Amino acid sequence: MNSIFTEEKPEVLIQEDGTRIDGRKPDEMRPISIEVGVLRKANGSAYLEWGGNRVLAAVYGPREVHPRHLALPDRALIRCRYNMAPFSTEERKRPGPDRRSVELSKVIREALIPAIFVERFPNTAIDIFVEILRSDAGTRIAGITAASLALADAGIPLRGLVTGCTVGKIGKWLVLDVGHEEDMWGDADIPLAMIMETQEITLLQSDGTLTPEEFKEALNLAIKGCTYVYELQKEALRRPYVVVEKEVKGEV
Ligand code: UDP
Repeated sequence: MNSIFTEEKPEVLIQEDGTRIDGRKPDEMRPISIEVGVLRKANGSAYLEWGGNRVLAAVYGPREVHPRHLALPDRALIRCRYNMAPFSTEERKRPGPDRRSVELSKVIREALIPAIFVERFPNTAIDIFVEILRSDAGTRIAGITAASLALADAGIPLRGLVTGCTVGKIGKWLVLDVGHEEDMWGDADIPLAMIMETQEITLLQSDGTLTPEEFKEALNLAIKGCTYVYELQKEALRRPYVVVEKEVKGEV
């Protein structure tokens, strides 16, 4: 099968008129689809397709903590594992944790914790699993977006949904929702996650250099992207209830 990805730097990442290598406009997102409650054995789950990314998130808990000495007397222990399947990348990824997956597990966990009313569940654990089945740049953001839905699906009280988006810089352009080649060859990549209801930013990373003006513009663009994703998240959460409502009314 022909790959759309070239591992060599393309001559032009973005055209003079702002058309990107995959044909998008600078502020255009990749297609996103979300389904909630896809796993029977987890307390909460979500499946997300975002561009070429395929992400599954599962939540277990609040449940008993093992080993017990890790239990926290005043709040829930939140654990998170981000994992890339060996078949999720161009070249087979060696199974098991590596430095990157440890970092991403940490940043995803820290992006989600502020949204969770952890103090309501002392001496328990909430375990979050983010499995990347196919990767196409922006998996940490896709993972956070899916995991927050899995938490909501598990019925865990949240201050709000956590939503993510990335902004990149390519030459003079700021681009929304960085694609694979833009991630590899672009000048900067800024993943952002926020609790939409409170507008609290819970993840902000940046590789690359931006002027203060560019940074402000990048933040606004990322928030615009998050607002779009947030609507899709809410729609995905509501969908099963809309189906039940239609069944009750005899409309299906
Ligand atoms: N990637 C890969 N192999 C790896 C790590 C990353 O092919 O071992 C690819 C994957 O498509 C990923 C992208 O590089 O989405 C960008 O990775 P990064 O570390 O920037 O994190 P992400 O953008 O996925 O949050």
